[in-house]
Amino acid sequence: MAQRYRVAAIPGDGIGKEVVPEGLRCLRAAADTYGFALDVEEFGFASADYWVRHGRMMPEDWRDVLGGFDAIFFGAVGWPEAVPDHVSLWGSLLRMRRDFDQYVNLRPVRLLRGVRSPLRDHRPGDIDFYVVRENTEGEYSSIGGRIFEGTERETVLQETVMTRVGVDRVLRYAFELADARPRRRLTWATKSNGISISMPYWDERAGEMALRYPRVRADKDHIDILAAKFVLRPEQYDVVVASNLFGDILSDLGPACTGTIGVAPSANINPDRRYPSLFEPVHGSAPDIAGLGVADPVGQIWSGAMMLEHLGESAAAAAVVAAIESVLEEHPEVRTPDLGGDATTVALGSAIARRITAGA
Ligand code: ATP
Ligand code: MG
Repeated sequence: MAQRYRVAAIPGDGIGKEVVPEGLRCLRAAADTYGFALDVEEFGFASADYWVRHGRMMPEDWRDVLGGFDAIFFGAVGWPEAVPDHVSLWGSLLRMRRDFDQYVNLRPVRLLRGVRSPLRDHRPGDIDFYVVRENTEGEYSSIGGRIFEGTERETVLQETVMTRVGVDRVLRYAFELADARPRRRLTWATKSNGISISMPYWDERAGEMALRYPRVRADKDHIDILAAKFVLRPEQYDVVVASNLFGDILSDLGPACTGTIGVAPSANINPDRRYPSLFEPVHGSAPDIAGLGVADPVGQIWSGAMMLEHLGESAAAAAVVAAIESVLEEHPEVRTPDLGGDATTVALGSAIARRITAGA
């Protein structure tokens, strides 16, 4: 019997509502072609519309509603006209990340065929690595405060929190990923030459973890030089793992080096699989182009490929990425404006779906 997966689709706001249907179109094409079944249920919460009607971003029992799904396929949240960004974000996406313990944020940095890199002299195949960001602790703790407020001695403190469990689990994920890739290289981001307590601990745990993965060639780079090398020598990276803050920066910088924001995908993963993982494009709701039907659906479709990979459908996942590349390379007439064309979201999404069905 065909394998069945239950997927919760949450389009959210703005162009999320335009690109999620294209993502689903491609996922369905992959399911039909590769012989598995997707049971997709769509939800209208995590959106400004829901907020206006209910005064909250998600139903009270959202954990029960979503907890039984194999994955969440998310568009974008945020409509500042109706609800302030910090309210919409903390009331939906960030709550899911935290309560579903999605402690890995994974972003491929890969230059696709048919996409121009803003870095000159790079060709598809040159840039192909992953950024693994710790997603739950580190520099983004809310421990700290102000003292001597309003005086000359006014002082502000904010702590970094690293736990052994929290550090080890994200490192383990990154080493496993590196171990399964052909080049088996891993670089951990650090700044232990300047940050003298937390970062040496991070180095220590990474060094310890490296002993358990003798096949992986592991080394560290300080965050400043690492950022420079993302731009100057991206071809030397394979898997890059970083703490929450450093990972936040690198996981925006990386995709920016490989094309437009419209094509970049991401995954928030609970590797223990106790909870569903969430797959979403890197971009936001893009109010400036929402409703025009010209948003680039590739980031959403590629996020769908990451979801298939997570579900264990690797062949289908690879086929989706290959279809994206073939269409971008061979069919300039279906490029959206961000890719230099004048086609619609639906035209590009449909062309990719047809390519998946036809075989890339
Ligand atoms: P955040 O999501 O962090 O709030 P934001 O709202 O500033 O960020 P986006 O919504 O991603 O950012 O939009 C940033 C810019 O990129 C906008 O000009 C938007 O039109 C453009 N953009 C984002 N996504 C796409 C897409 N899929 N296709 C075409 N243009 C896009
Ligand atoms: Mg926004």
